[in-house]
Amino acid sequence: MDFTLTKEQQDIIKAAREFASGEFPDRAQEFDRNESFDLDLWRKACELGFVGVFIDEEFDGAGYGFFEHCLIVEEFWAVDPGIGQAIQSTTFGAELLGLFGSEDQKRLILPQLVAGEAIMGTAITEPDAGCDVTSAATTAVKDGNEWVINGSKMFATNGNLAKYMVIFCQTDPDNPSHHKRHSFILVPAETPGYESTKIRGKLGIRASDTAELTFNDVRVPALNLIGKEGEGFHELMAFFNRTRLHICAQAVGLARAALEESVRYTQQRHQFGASIASFQVTQFKIAEMATWIKAAKNLYYEAAWSVDQGKIDHGLIAMAKWYSAEMAVRCADEALQMHGGYGYIDEYKVQRLYRDAKILEIYEGTKEMEKTIVARSILG
Ligand SMILES: Cc1cc2nc3c(=O)[nH]c(=O)nc-3n(C[C@H](O)[C@H](O)[C@H](O)COP(=O)(O)OP(=O)(O)OC[C@H]3O[C@@H](n4cnc5c(N)ncnc54)[C@H](O)[C@@H]3O)c2cc1C
Repeated sequence: MDFTLTKEQQDIIKAAREFASGEFPDRAQEFDRNESFDLDLWRKACELGFVGVFIDEEFDGAGYGFFEHCLIVEEFWAVDPGIGQAIQSTTFGAELLGLFGSEDQKRLILPQLVAGEAIMGTAITEPDAGCDVTSAATTAVKDGNEWVINGSKMFATNGNLAKYMVIFCQTDPDNPSHHKRHSFILVPAETPGYESTKIRGKLGIRASDTAELTFNDVRVPALNLIGKEGEGFHELMAFFNRTRLHICAQAVGLARAALEESVRYTQQRHQFGASIASFQVTQFKIAEMATWIKAAKNLYYEAAWSVDQGKIDHGLIAMAKWYSAEMAVRCADEALQMHGGYGYIDEYKVQRLYRDAKILEIYEGTKEMEKTIVARSILG
């Protein structure tokens, strides 16, 4: 497969890298320490056209593929994962709207995401429903022309910032198939009964907002159903087949940063009268990291390219997701190790990378679930 990037794709990478390198480094430590983010930075990214590039042109997006979106994500994460996540996740759910949303829903929301006027999020996980999404118990009951939503969600990215949240709800709890019980419903965050509480104390990606949500008789119009009633599970899988690609790009970006920091540090740090880069054990670490990154990159390029060609290969996407996540965690670990004690304090970027990396193995499908999907794609 030929992954020679077009001139346009190379320009996207260059522009994303320049923006991130110019804007992120000075703020990264502050956001990480304060668990906060300056929304002006997101607005600036929107103004420059980095947000929602996969959104169709008729809804003010650039009309690019997920591949181009991944290229931007990778560059942002290569500079700072926390800020990268805070900016990139503002469209989390647009992929679902693009696939299954009604014309009115897309027209209302997508242009606002691109313009930096609204943030969205998608809440599936619940206190008692993580990997097993079919056990999600938040209910949406029809009452005349409205849905009435009750329940709670856990770890919702952007839950405190979003203007719109997409909620995975049980709409047909008695259906004999647990794959037919759920639907996605769009909830404006200002709706009475919607409450969000910030989750503090995260290990990494601390610039990114995470919330616990509760819904007490939240009423939204029946038209806020996204896609088809009872098809939420299948729609979720289609959604994940796009969003998991972003995680691969995040992982490769983070691992590249870990490698860059390691190369710089090991060449300048001297012990035993020589740079630590001159020791073979260090060289092997550098060589392994570079090889893992290349392998992960090729895997996700192929997966993203296939999705943009309309060829959905669940096994390939899951393979790319777990491999790149595990690879990033390994690279961040090796990078910190090569920094010795200095890597252990947060003045050094590798400490943040080490903490930021772990989420990659958890969200949008834990590595165990991804490996299960890969095994199923092979064993049936
Ligand atoms: C910072 C952050 C942001 C997040 N953002 C969002 C968001 O925006 N929206 C959202 O809906 N969710 C979000 N999540 C939730 C995330 O997707 C879940 O944490 C993840 O799906 C795992 O669910 P859980 O935490 O309940 O773990 P559990 O499902 O309880 O799993 C715990 C462990 O058991 C393993 N396990 C479970 N079942 C199996 C099995 N069958 N076979 C083998 N191993 C298994 C898992 O792999 C894991 O290692 C976020 C989480 C975090 C931390």
